[in-house]
Amino acid sequence: MKLNIEGAIQIEIPSEFKTYVSEEHFANCIQCGCHLLDDDKEYFIEKIVKDNQVELEYAICTDCMEKVDIKLSDESKENIKNFMESRSTNMISNLILMDAGETDYKKWLESCIVTGEPFANDDEYQIAAHCVGKKMVLSIMPYKISFKAMEQMQDLLSAQTKEELDNFKKQNLDLPPELFQMLTKKPFVFV
Ligand SMILES: [Zn+2]
Repeated sequence: MKLNIEGAIQIEIPSEFKTYVSEEHFANCIQCGCHLLDDDKEYFIEKIVKDNQVELEYAICTDCMEKVDIKLSDESKENIKNFMESRSTNMISNLILMDAGETDYKKWLESCIVTGEPFANDDEYQIAAHCVGKKMVLSIMPYKISFKAMEQMQDLLSAQTKEELDNFKKQNLDLPPELFQMLTKKPFVFV
Protein backbone atom coordinates (compact mmCIF):
# COMPACT_ATOMS: atom_id res chain seq x y z
CA MET A 1 0.00 0.00 0.00
CA LYS A 2 1.59 3.24 -1.13
CA LEU A 3 0.02 6.65 -0.79
CA ASN A 4 0.82 9.24 -3.38
CA ILE A 5 3.17 11.66 -1.67
CA GLU A 6 4.30 13.58 -4.71
CA GLY A 7 4.24 17.29 -3.98
CA ALA A 8 3.53 16.77 -0.29
CA ILE A 9 5.69 18.62 2.21
CA GLN A 10 7.62 16.47 4.66
CA ILE A 11 8.42 17.77 8.14
CA GLU A 12 10.38 16.43 11.09
CA ILE A 13 8.18 13.99 13.00
CA PRO A 14 6.68 16.00 15.89
CA SER A 15 6.72 14.66 19.46
CA GLU A 16 3.01 13.88 19.24
CA PHE A 17 3.95 11.14 16.79
CA LYS A 18 6.97 9.85 18.67
CA THR A 19 6.81 7.22 21.40
CA TYR A 20 4.79 8.39 24.36
CA VAL A 21 7.19 7.53 27.15
CA SER A 22 10.60 8.34 25.72
CA GLU A 23 9.63 10.68 22.87
CA GLU A 24 11.78 8.78 20.44
CA HIS A 25 11.10 7.77 16.86
CA PHE A 26 9.25 4.51 16.37
CA ALA A 27 12.15 2.40 15.16
CA ASN A 28 10.46 -0.88 14.20
CA CYS A 29 7.30 -2.19 12.58
CA ILE A 30 5.00 -3.77 15.14
CA GLN A 31 4.36 -6.74 12.90
CA CYS A 32 7.51 -7.67 11.00
CA GLY A 33 10.00 -5.78 13.14
CA CYS A 34 11.67 -4.14 10.16
CA HIS A 35 13.71 -0.99 10.70
CA LEU A 36 11.72 2.16 9.92
CA LEU A 37 14.19 5.00 10.06
CA ASP A 38 15.94 4.58 6.71
CA ASP A 39 15.40 7.54 4.40
CA ASP A 40 12.99 5.92 1.98
CA LYS A 41 11.10 3.59 4.36
CA GLU A 42 7.36 4.26 4.40
CA TYR A 43 5.19 3.43 7.38
CA PHE A 44 2.22 4.56 9.41
CA ILE A 45 1.99 5.58 13.05
CA GLU A 46 -1.25 5.15 14.92
CA LYS A 47 -2.20 6.18 18.45
CA ILE A 48 -5.37 5.94 20.47
CA VAL A 49 -5.81 8.62 23.11
CA LYS A 50 -8.37 8.55 25.90
CA ASP A 51 -8.70 11.09 28.71
CA ASN A 52 -5.50 12.74 27.48
CA GLN A 53 -3.59 9.48 27.93
CA VAL A 54 -2.09 7.46 25.13
CA GLU A 55 -3.80 4.07 25.40
CA LEU A 56 -2.14 2.44 22.46
CA GLU A 57 0.53 3.35 19.93
CA TYR A 58 2.44 1.57 17.24
CA ALA A 59 4.06 1.91 13.85
CA ILE A 60 3.41 -0.47 10.98
CA CYS A 61 5.27 -0.63 7.67
CA THR A 62 3.39 -0.26 4.38
CA ASP A 63 4.06 -3.90 3.42
CA CYS A 64 2.39 -5.17 6.59
CA MET A 65 -0.43 -2.67 6.22
CA GLU A 66 -1.06 -4.03 2.76
CA LYS A 67 -1.50 -7.50 4.24
CA VAL A 68 -4.13 -6.10 6.60
CA ASP A 69 -5.85 -4.43 3.66
CA ILE A 70 -6.01 -7.75 1.78
CA LYS A 71 -7.86 -9.24 4.76
CA LEU A 72 -10.71 -6.76 4.35
CA SER A 73 -13.60 -8.23 2.37
CA ASP A 74 -14.63 -6.48 -0.84
CA GLU A 75 -17.95 -5.67 0.77
CA SER A 76 -16.26 -3.97 3.71
CA LYS A 77 -13.91 -2.03 1.47
CA GLU A 78 -16.80 -0.81 -0.63
CA ASN A 79 -18.81 0.18 2.45
CA ILE A 80 -15.91 2.14 3.91
CA LYS A 81 -15.15 3.81 0.60
CA ASN A 82 -18.76 4.96 0.21
CA PHE A 83 -18.89 6.10 3.79
CA MET A 84 -15.72 8.16 3.47
CA GLU A 85 -16.86 9.68 0.18
CA SER A 86 -20.12 10.77 1.77
CA ARG A 87 -18.21 12.51 4.56
CA SER A 88 -15.24 13.81 2.69
CA THR A 89 -15.41 17.49 3.66
CA ASN A 90 -12.68 17.27 6.21
CA MET A 91 -10.46 15.13 4.05
CA ILE A 92 -10.72 17.75 1.36
CA SER A 93 -9.73 20.40 3.89
CA ASN A 94 -6.56 18.41 4.56
CA LEU A 95 -5.80 18.37 0.86
CA ILE A 96 -6.42 22.12 0.67
CA LEU A 97 -3.86 22.60 3.46
CA MET A 98 -1.46 20.46 1.47
CA ASP A 99 -2.02 22.43 -1.74
CA ALA A 100 -1.50 25.68 0.15
CA GLY A 101 1.92 24.48 1.30
CA GLU A 102 0.91 24.67 4.97
CA THR A 103 3.61 23.33 7.30
CA ASP A 104 1.84 23.41 10.69
CA TYR A 105 0.73 19.79 11.12
CA LYS A 106 -1.59 20.77 14.00
CA LYS A 107 -3.97 22.22 11.42
CA TRP A 108 -4.51 18.69 10.14
CA LEU A 109 -5.68 17.62 13.59
CA GLU A 110 -8.14 20.34 14.49
CA SER A 111 -11.30 18.37 13.80
CA CYS A 112 -12.45 14.83 13.12
CA ILE A 113 -11.62 13.77 9.57
CA VAL A 114 -14.92 11.88 9.33
CA THR A 115 -17.47 14.01 11.18
CA GLY A 116 -15.72 17.37 10.82
CA GLU A 117 -16.51 18.12 14.46
CA PRO A 118 -13.93 19.90 16.63
CA PHE A 119 -12.58 18.01 19.63
CA ALA A 120 -13.31 18.62 23.30
CA ASN A 121 -10.52 18.14 25.81
CA ASP A 122 -11.46 14.73 27.11
CA ASP A 123 -12.57 13.10 23.89
CA GLU A 124 -11.32 9.70 22.88
CA TYR A 125 -9.72 9.72 19.49
CA GLN A 126 -7.22 8.17 17.15
CA ILE A 127 -4.43 9.97 15.34
CA ALA A 128 -2.51 8.57 12.45
CA ALA A 129 0.43 9.74 10.39
CA HIS A 130 2.22 8.65 7.26
CA CYS A 131 5.99 8.77 7.64
CA VAL A 132 9.05 8.25 5.49
CA GLY A 133 12.15 7.55 7.57
CA LYS A 134 12.39 10.35 10.10
CA LYS A 135 9.95 12.60 8.25
CA MET A 136 6.18 12.95 8.42
CA VAL A 137 4.27 13.53 5.18
CA LEU A 138 1.62 16.26 5.12
CA SER A 139 -1.03 15.08 2.66
CA ILE A 140 -4.42 13.61 3.51
CA MET A 141 -2.61 12.46 6.63
CA PRO A 142 -1.97 13.10 9.42
CA TYR A 143 -5.54 12.86 10.60
CA LYS A 144 -7.52 12.69 13.79
CA ILE A 145 -10.69 10.66 14.07
CA SER A 146 -13.22 10.66 16.90
CA PHE A 147 -14.28 7.54 18.74
CA LYS A 148 -17.83 8.15 17.57
CA ALA A 149 -16.68 8.04 13.95
CA MET A 150 -14.60 4.92 14.62
CA GLU A 151 -17.72 3.20 15.93
CA GLN A 152 -19.71 4.25 12.88
CA MET A 153 -17.05 2.76 10.65
CA GLN A 154 -16.91 -0.44 12.63
CA ASP A 155 -20.58 -0.96 11.78
CA LEU A 156 -19.66 -0.97 8.09
CA LEU A 157 -17.39 -3.98 8.35
CA SER A 158 -18.66 -7.41 7.43
CA ALA A 159 -18.55 -10.21 10.02
CA GLN A 160 -15.80 -11.90 8.03
CA THR A 161 -13.65 -8.78 8.02
CA LYS A 162 -14.16 -8.22 11.74
CA GLU A 163 -12.96 -11.73 12.41
CA GLU A 164 -9.90 -11.28 10.18
CA LEU A 165 -8.98 -8.03 11.89
CA ASP A 166 -9.48 -9.52 15.34
CA ASN A 167 -7.16 -12.37 14.43
CA PHE A 168 -4.57 -9.99 13.05
CA LYS A 169 -4.60 -7.92 16.20
CA LYS A 170 -4.46 -10.98 18.43
CA GLN A 171 -1.46 -12.32 16.55
CA ASN A 172 0.45 -9.09 16.23
CA LEU A 173 -0.36 -6.80 19.08
CA ASP A 174 0.69 -7.91 22.50
CA LEU A 175 -1.94 -6.09 24.50
CA PRO A 176 -3.61 -6.42 27.87
CA PRO A 177 -7.22 -7.64 27.43
CA GLU A 178 -8.92 -4.33 28.17
CA LEU A 179 -6.86 -2.56 25.53
CA PHE A 180 -7.39 -5.35 23.08
CA GLN A 181 -11.13 -5.02 23.54
CA MET A 182 -10.98 -1.32 22.88
CA LEU A 183 -8.86 -1.78 19.80
CA THR A 184 -11.15 -4.38 18.32
CA LYS A 185 -13.92 -1.80 18.42
CA LYS A 186 -12.14 0.13 15.74
CA PRO A 187 -11.19 -0.79 12.21
CA PHE A 188 -8.03 0.25 10.48
CA VAL A 189 -9.12 3.26 8.55
CA PHE A 190 -6.28 4.05 6.21
CA VAL A 191 -7.90 5.01 2.97
ZN1 LIG B 1 6.16 -4.57 8.76
